[in-house]
Amino acid sequence: TWSNVPAGPPDPILGVTEAFKADKDPRKINLGVGAYRDENGKPYILPSVKKAEEIVQSSKPDKEYLPITGLPEFTKNSALLAYGAESDVIKQGTVAITQSISGTGALRIGGAFLARHYPHSKAIYLPAPTWGNHIPLFGDSGLEVRKYRYFNKETVGLDFEGLKADLKAAPEQSIVLLHACAHNPTGIDPTPEQWAEISDIVKEKKLFPFFDMAYQGFASGSTAKDAFAVRHFVSQGHQIALAQSFAKNMGLYGERVGAFSLTTADPAEKARVDSQLKIIIRPMYSNPPLHGARIANAILNNADLYTQWESEVKGMADRIISMREKLYTTLQKDLNTPGEWGHIKSQIGMFSFTGLTSPQTKALAEKAHVYMTADGRISMAGLNGNNIEYFAQSVDAAVRG
Ligand code: PMP
Repeated sequence: TWSNVPAGPPDPILGVTEAFKADKDPRKINLGVGAYRDENGKPYILPSVKKAEEIVQSSKPDKEYLPITGLPEFTKNSALLAYGAESDVIKQGTVAITQSISGTGALRIGGAFLARHYPHSKAIYLPAPTWGNHIPLFGDSGLEVRKYRYFNKETVGLDFEGLKADLKAAPEQSIVLLHACAHNPTGIDPTPEQWAEISDIVKEKKLFPFFDMAYQGFASGSTAKDAFAVRHFVSQGHQIALAQSFAKNMGLYGERVGAFSLTTADPAEKARVDSQLKIIIRPMYSNPPLHGARIANAILNNADLYTQWESEVKGMADRIISMREKLYTTLQKDLNTPGEWGHIKSQIGMFSFTGLTSPQTKALAEKAHVYMTADGRISMAGLNGNNIEYFAQSVDAAVRG
């Protein structure tokens, strides 16, 4: 029956982890996958998450089904976290929202909703480059995937002129995907002033903004600061779509906690949109899992735990920032590695686009047991005090050839 099924390629990101696992060298480093590691290179369960789990367990919760759109308290708090308590859409109750299978599931529900109900266009513009999974995800949702310029190879920075030109050239009312903060894979975000300009172009061209916010709090250490772009767009009167993930900022990766929301014109429209979200979700997976949403809600719902969580997110962000400083200093100052490495320091969030070429990344894997994606992206969270010197020396050797 399946003799005509061709073998597919391995996932470009998860494939890196497989190569890493097969390597027996004790010096090996995995900088491929975007999961936070502590200063000993170990997975990190946030203490606030442990406490939240205890609170959930002590309430002796049942295992009944959640409603189709998830735990209502959780989605309410998730919207508050993203849009802010002062936002008009929160005050007016016009955010249609559903729990989702983390950020990926949120994007997929959004893709399906837009493909079915957005009347103006099927075209979605993604930044080039973008998180690899965006491309098949939106294609499989029934949208037509296009690109806008984002990365400037020469400056290893934002191609703001290219970005503006491409959005201005897009057909009116196209959908545009924006990374809310900590752009993956480049680690390069627009400044607040640039966001304001992007908002103006989106308005002028009547584009529909779809924000992917997978790293709220992870970029700067402040959840409010990282929500700037989303909140600015909403304050400018845009209706937006938003995918939220709690994988990174709460370290709930495998628990699959997220939310998808749409801001609507009024409560009656919100109710109609909510009804259609249910119609999309019910035949997909019926209703979402309980445990992670209960944990996230226990944190968001409790002022003390929320404060503790924010300081732990900041702790993760600060450790990454200190690794950026250290890597920059070692390459640029100590080793005099050929090239300009300032972007390592200026980039934001979990990832850095190093500028290493695909042959250099291959040499790093083969000669130094250092693994990263072929585009030269590294997860800064995989670096720590024990391996950063070795990593910098290996990069230096690879660059010198
Ligand atoms: N969007 C972006 C930009 C991401 O980097 C990720 C995770 N790598 C996701 C969405 C989705 O992650 P998850 O489904 O684990 O929340």
